[in-house]
Amino acid sequence: MSFDVKLLDGLLVCTKCRSALIRDGDHLICVKPDCRIQFSIRDEIPNMLLEDSVVVPIGNWGPIMERSGRDSVSGAKPSAR
Ligand SMILES: [Zn+2]
Repeated sequence: MSFDVKLLDGLLVCTKCRSALIRDGDHLICVKPDCRIQFSIRDEIPNMLLEDSVVVPIGNWGPIMERSGRDSVSGAKPSAR
């Protein structure tokens, strides 16, 4: 069973800053440039615990946003601008 990214969008938010999360592989990543928290997904279950999360380096975060069709600097959806 695969995870529906569109369904996920808007349901799960970053537990630190409440921003949206995007999925990249087995990770969920916060779209806020100042936050960039990354949560792991194991067996299709996201681990939303802050103590288990890591911060994505800014150099990796931009390309991840781009892969998800978001702005590589602001993390915003193009349609939201
Ligand atoms: Zn966040």
